Formats: sequence, C-alpha cells, structure tokens
Amino acid sequence: MNRTALYPGSFDPITTGHVHIVERALPLFDHIVVAIGSNTQKKCRFPLEQRLRWIEAAFSQYKNVEVATYEGLTTDFCHEHHIDYLLRGVRSTTDYAYEEQLGAINRLIAPNVETVILMAAPEYTAISSTMVRELLAFGHDVRAYLPPAIRNEFD
Ligand code: ADP
Repeated sequence: MNRTALYPGSFDPITTGHVHIVERALPLFDHIVVAIGSNTQKKCRFPLEQRLRWIEAAFSQYKNVEVATYEGLTTDFCHEHHIDYLLRGVRSTTDYAYEEQLGAINRLIAPNVETVILMAAPEYTAISSTMVRELLAFGHDVRAYLPPAIRNEFD
C-alpha cells in the first residue's frame, strides 16, 4: 500500500501551523505533497515562486514530503497524480464550516478521494497566514510563527 496525501493551500506564507499538520500526518501516509493551488481568485501577498521556495525550505529534511503547484481543480490534480487523500487542518468552527463545504463538493465530484482533517493542536489554533500578513503590515516580528528554515528572511 502506497498512501499519498495532497495538502493543498495558499501558504501565503507557510506557517508553523501548516508544518505541524504535515508533521502529524507523516505517520499516516507514505508521501505528502504540499501543493499551492494558484487557480483561485484569491490575491496573494507573496509571489508563487517565493511561497514555493519557503515550503521547500520548511520540509527539506523530509524525503517523503514533496512540493508542487497546480492550476485547476484540486481533485483533478489528485486524479492526474493518483493521489487518494486530501489533507486539511481545522482550527475553529469557522474553519470546520468551510472544510465541510469543500469536503462535500470534493466528495461529489471525486468520491474516490478521501478528505482527512486533522484538528489543530491548541498551541497552533491562533496561527494563520492572514494573521502573519496582518502583523507584518504593522512591522511586528512574526518569526515565531514561521518555520525555522525561513525565519532569517524576516529579520
Ligand atoms: P486555503 O487558502 O486553502 O485555506 P491555507 O494555506 O490558508 O489555504 O491553509 C491550508 C490548510 O491548512 C487549510 O485546511 C487550513 O485550515 C489549514 N491550516 C492553516 N493554518 C493552520 C493551523 N495553524 N493549524 C492547523 N491547520 C491550519
């Protein structure tokens, strides 16, 4: 059995919260593909190349974590790459409501792709890319919320 999960997101930027989800999912899967979906209307603060490079740096010590980008539907990417699991994280009931909708649609259009949701650990529930961007805008030190490998870029 070779279990691969796709962890899709914007990662604008990747945070310690994202990293924690992947690290906790590693014992459950043989491979995890962390993928930036660049299809949505969402306007990102950081360029795609930079977000990609930061994800690569964050997981460089893990041989079974790969990084990718895709356009189009997440489930199409799963089918093209023979990926059977979608990994997501929830921090709150708001996150849950969103993931419930997303999971339902994905199940309708791709019933063979199973969504696996991990609950954020309490110490990570307040950490989000949005919060990091907001703090950065006001010149606040955000290094504690970023993966150690990229902290020096935010000195
Ligand atoms: P999206 O734009 O698809 O929501 P994000 O990059 O914001 O992409 O998040 C990707 C996934 O990681 C989502 O399932 C989100 O809920 C989850 N996530 C983000 N931050 C955390 C965190 N601190 N703890 C747990 N899960 C998180």
